[in-house]
Amino acid sequence: MTTSIVLGAGMVGVSTALALQESGYQVVLLDRKAPGRETSYGNAGIIQTEAVEPYAFPRTAREIASVALKRGNDVDWRLADLRHLAGPLWRYFSQSAPEPYARSVAAYSQLAVRASDDHARFIEPAGASELIVRQGWRAVYRTAQTLERAAATAERLKHAYGVPSDVLGPDELARSEPALRRRLAGAVHWTGPWSCRDPGELVARYAALFLARGGTFESGDAMTLRQDGHGWRVSTQHGTVSAQHAIIALGPWSPQLAKTFGYRIPMVFKRGYHRHFSAQDGPRVPILDVANGTLVAPMTAGYRVLTGAHMAPPDARPASRQMRHAVDAARELFALREPIEQTPWSGTRPCMPDMLPVAGPTRHKGLWFHFGHGHQGFTLGPTTARLLAEQIDGGQANPLALPLLPSARTWA
Ligand SMILES: Cc1cc2nc3c(=O)[nH]c(=O)nc-3n(C[C@H](O)[C@H](O)[C@H](O)COP(=O)(O)OP(=O)(O)OC[C@H]3O[C@@H](n4cnc5c(N)ncnc54)[C@H](O)[C@@H]3O)c2cc1C
Repeated sequence: MTTSIVLGAGMVGVSTALALQESGYQVVLLDRKAPGRETSYGNAGIIQTEAVEPYAFPRTAREIASVALKRGNDVDWRLADLRHLAGPLWRYFSQSAPEPYARSVAAYSQLAVRASDDHARFIEPAGASELIVRQGWRAVYRTAQTLERAAATAERLKHAYGVPSDVLGPDELARSEPALRRRLAGAVHWTGPWSCRDPGELVARYAALFLARGGTFESGDAMTLRQDGHGWRVSTQHGTVSAQHAIIALGPWSPQLAKTFGYRIPMVFKRGYHRHFSAQDGPRVPILDVANGTLVAPMTAGYRVLTGAHMAPPDARPASRQMRHAVDAARELFALREPIEQTPWSGTRPCMPDMLPVAGPTRHKGLWFHFGHGHQGFTLGPTTARLLAEQIDGGQANPLALPLLPSARTWA
């Protein structure tokens, strides 16, 4: 039987392990923590089938000035960090020009629209149905003008990709979200996406399914990966594991390991923060307050208040501006009580300059990359895992012919 080691047990790694197992591989999944305890734990938990167009770098002078002057709450940065991030950010800016962006959207949209079907294949067998709410999420707007613009975008996405949505006026929004404390201009309700009440637990249940189907989980440091004759080996708590294939699925830590084999990955690191709050009543579904770059998601642990992107290398110290503003904005909308944790959680969205995940072979035989899912790795993990497993199994480019291969990328 062909063997493989999947390095990293976030949504992407666990989904890869399950997909390879379905293709008949014997798989060892390795992580230094329990499955689903890092980025795949701390996200907003939305399976974003509406996210057919990835987040581009701002291109207009007005948008760039807003980010540069930190006028909004959706992006934060520190001067000291920028010199580490300048190269990837420049590539991100270039890849966000109309032509390359259109190419990325053409690929990305094909992934996003099938994401809930690919999750569905795991949710029920993993016994995780009670974690999933199939009621979409809402982006709320504070002015009629911003609502009108958002409604036009929603209409365009409906026609171009079949993404379903409803536009709610102020009264409909108040009826749909009775805990809202103030009257807003309205909302775009993305009705197709699913949301998860405990993202880390969903990954843990997928990992349990992988074990129940005969897979092995090992604790260990992925940085011990070495080429070994025709295969790969890694050290674990129980000794050395060897396999024909090794898949790097370490999310934001992937570039560190790839570098030891000579690959320079220009990842764009977008940190996010969250904190849970108790409340008598809060939003029914995740609510994005667009004007304040703040999302409030009902979770098993409480109401999770999340921020936008802090452009920071993974080891940079936390910043508090976005979280403070997000909590103020969330409290304007809902009567949140005290925070549940002592300090906010933070984690890093592993973004690629061309906004597409990386899923394919490297120059080293048997070494595969699977990372860079950016803002939507919780959504896309099972989908790109399936495409990658088909490549590993069939030795061919992914069947959708999407430009996800490392060799096809401008940075390769
Ligand atoms: C605030 C925020 C909100 C988000 N909201 C959403 C959302 O609503 N929907 C969505 O689709 N996406 C969302 N995302 C993005 C999503 O969370 C990520 O894209 C996704 O979790 C990445 O998954 P991953 O498996 O690649 O990485 P991770 O989940 O980070 O997994 C990487 C794993 O590698 C392990 N690891 C690292 N180094 C080593 C080592 N040396 N040895 C062993 N193991 C190691 C880690 O322990 C970890 O388990 C959000 C992200 C953030 C930050």
